This record gives sequence, structure tokens and C-alpha cells, in this order.
Amino acid sequence: MAVVGAGLAGLAAGLALTRAGCRVTVLERSRLLGGKATSFVTGGREVDNGQHVILGCCTAFLELAEELGMRRELHLQERFEVLMLSESGPARLRALDLPAPLHLALPFLRFRALGARARMAVTWALLAARRSDPEREETEPFTAWLARHHQGAEARRAFWEPFVVPAVNAPLGAVSAAAALFVVRTAFLGDSGAARIGWATVPLARFAERAAGRLDAVRLRSAVTGVEVAGGRLRALRVGAEAGGSEELDEVDAAVIAIPPERLRRLRGLDALGVRDLEGFRSQPIVDVHLLYEGAAPLGFEFAALTGSPVQWVFTKGEGYLCCSLSSAAEWIGEPEERLVALADRELRRRVPALAGARLAHGAATRDPEATFVPAPGLHRPGPRTALPNVVLAGAWTDTGWPATMEGAVRSGRRAAAALLGTLGAPRARPAETVHA
Ligand SMILES: Cc1cc2nc3c(=O)[nH]c(=O)nc-3n(C[C@H](O)[C@H](O)[C@H](O)COP(=O)(O)OP(=O)(O)OC[C@H]3O[C@@H](n4cnc5c(N)ncnc54)[C@H](O)[C@@H]3O)c2cc1C
Repeated sequence: MAVVGAGLAGLAAGLALTRAGCRVTVLERSRLLGGKATSFVTGGREVDNGQHVILGCCTAFLELAEELGMRRELHLQERFEVLMLSESGPARLRALDLPAPLHLALPFLRFRALGARARMAVTWALLAARRSDPEREETEPFTAWLARHHQGAEARRAFWEPFVVPAVNAPLGAVSAAAALFVVRTAFLGDSGAARIGWATVPLARFAERAAGRLDAVRLRSAVTGVEVAGGRLRALRVGAEAGGSEELDEVDAAVIAIPPERLRRLRGLDALGVRDLEGFRSQPIVDVHLLYEGAAPLGFEFAALTGSPVQWVFTKGEGYLCCSLSSAAEWIGEPEERLVALADRELRRRVPALAGARLAHGAATRDPEATFVPAPGLHRPGPRTALPNVVLAGAWTDTGWPATMEGAVRSGRRAAAALLGTLGAPRARPAETVHA
């Protein structure tokens, strides 16, 4: 079987198919594994293509790490705790050892990042969010929901923007209430461990590499450019250099296509898959700014959220090394690197007194103009099945309910594999010697 795309969705699908006894070959257009969750070497340092955060509710991604023997390479808080840095000072929100939602509701009532009125307004809105109205939420912009629930400027700036914008990577008015409320309900209102924050302690590419090592074959620099159909089934994939060059025809019995919608749209023969509404997908950029300080006093935090700033989060990545992430960064993506570095440095210095005497020794920016899709009101996200019985779709953008996340990618891959096995039937078990350790 072929898996097209070596992002987390394709790799999760490949692992599930391998577990079921299939022989899996992955075709990946780039020279790197992991897709949007990858790492590369620059200036002698291996960096991720963007700071990636997981939450306690990312159960499929945590299971994947476990399956790969890499659970120890993920740090996850024992209890949800976040430091918010505003220009008027820091404030901390720490969950209590109580059932949800009391674990957060009680500490939130004393959360100094918001004034008393804004705190009451947010508490009221969170209570209201427990009742869902799926039809209305799918088509209503989240800002309309916020307005209906009397969320003023302060509540937006100090609560909804720092927590929801990075999770959906889009302005609050560009996403459906359903997408934003999914995050709120899943992370804050569900299980008391759901909002715990975590991240990988090794470069992200290690996860993809470990997964790829368990599959039969991975062909890098192999872009799939089209599908060949005969008798109502996929017969072969066209594989070749996208910008001209020779093209091969790979005979396949089935395929998981796990590439983003903007790439899927370019496949020749796409009509045969019967996938509709791909033109509805828009993407949003993410910018990360990497700052190396000398002579900073101890910062006293591993990570923090910034309020009232285009930098939403900052992570300490090593001595003096801070990584700032700017989600929903359409306004910033085109700025020259030195302006992004100056912006992030200024935003931090305004909020972090420990940087007062520090010297900025080095600064750099990484950018992804098409980081994630926007879960816009009314957007139709397809499920795994296509019009062809031996082709399924995967990807964080498919209909998982999750925003574009590593969790959504893994869930989509597993679901696509299950759909394919459901249609084709599981193969007989593989001979033991073909299974990689
Ligand atoms: C900067 C940044 C920060 C992020 N932060 C977070 C975060 O904090 N937490 C979180 O959970 N998620 C985060 N995400 C989102 C997360 O990384 C993605 O949602 C997820 O990794 C997507 O996985 P995927 O497999 O669906 O797609 P992709 O990772 O896009 O994988 C698709 C793969 O298909 C390949 N491909 C494309 N076209 C072809 C073709 N024609 N033939 C063969 N191969 C092809 C691509 O090269 C790619 O490797 C972030 C993303 C970015 C960019």
C-alpha cells in the first residue's frame, strides 16, 4: 500500500496499516520527514520548524509517542499552570486538585490578569460554553459568539486571544464558534488533566524518523503528481519531479493520501476521488522568533503567555535562548527578519524584568506562510472516504473536529487506515522477519 505524505497523518496511517499486516511504502515530496512537525539544522543548531505545544487532551499523539518508545521525550505538566505576562505585571493561573471544571473555575476567580468584571464575564461565558448548539456554532464566527456572551475588550485581550488564537492559528473573527469552542470544551471544561501543557524535549523530527523506521520503505523527494484510475479503482500513482523531469508510474493496490488541501488540489486525476470544496480552505502563517541573550538574570519561567502582544507565547529553549511564537501572523510574515527580531525583543523586555541588563547576542526568524488551515465558519472538511474504494484521505485538515494540530493529524491518519482496512479487509499477518524492530 502507498501512503502519500510523510507528515504525522501519513506516518500514523502507515503505522496502523503496518500493525494490521500491510506492506507500506511512503512517498514524500520533500527531503525531510515529519511535514509541518519537523526539524532542520541552521547555524549548527537543530531547530524545529516552529514551537509545537501539546496538551494533556492530545491522547492520540501521546499514544503515538508511547508506541514509538518516545513518551519520555515529551514533557507534560503534572497540573495545568500558566504564567501570563502583561505590561502591568505577571499573573499566574494554576489548576487545583479538583474535578473539572472546578479545578480551573476557582483559581480563575482570583486570576489577576483580568479585572473583576472581565473575570466574571469570562466565567459566565465558560459556563455558557458547556451548552452546545452545533448547527449555529458551525456557521457563526467566534467573535459573534463572544459578542452574544458579552465579552468586552479586556476579556478578549487577556483571555480569549492568548488561549484561543494560538490554538486555532487565526483571528477570532475568522474561525467558527464551533472550532474555538471545541478547544475551550476539550481543554478547559473536560477532564481536569486536559489543559496540561507539554512539548517535545528532542527535535520533533525524531518522532517522524522513528515512525518511518517501522515502515517497509520511505521514498523522499518523491512527489505524487497524479492518480491513474481503472475500473473504478486506483491503479497507479504518478510520481516524479514536480517541476518537470521524468515521472514514474507506481502500480499500487491502495493509497492513503495525506497531503494538505493546497497540494491535493494540484493532483492530476483528482476528480476521480470526488473530493469537494477544497477551494474553501485558506491557510494562516506562523512566525517564530529565536532570541539569544547574554547576561540575563534567571527568568523564573519555562514558558509564558503574553497579553496584548502579537507574540502570544515565549518558551525558554536553553541558557539565554528564548523562542517567541506569533500565531495568526499574516500581518508579520512579510516583515524583514531584523524587524521581527526587534519586535519580539521589545515585547519581551516590556514584560520580563530579568532581561533589563541582558544583551541580545543573536536573533533569527522562521516562518511558515501556510502553517495551518483556517477552520472558517461553514467550512466543509471531508472525512477519510473518497469515491474510490481503495483510496482514503488523511491530514490535520480533514474532518477530525480538531484544529490543525499534531493530535488532529495522528487521529486522521489512524481513522483513514481504519477506513481503508474496513473497505479492503485486513491482510493476512505479515511474516515476522519483515517487521522492523
Ligand atoms: C510553525 C508551526 C507551528 C505549529 N504549532 C503547533 C503546535 O503548537 N501544536 C500542534 O499540535 N500543532 C502545531 N502545528 C500544526 C501541526 O504541525 C500540523 O497540523 C500537523 O503536523 C500536520 O500534519 P499532517 O500530516 O496533516 O500534514 P503535513 O505535516 O503538512 O504533512 C504533509 C506531508 O505531505 C507532503 N506532501 C505534500 N504534497 C505531496 C505530494 N504531492 N507528494 C508527496 N508528498 C507530498 C509534505 O511535504 C508533507 O511532508 C504547527 C505548525 C506549524 C507550521
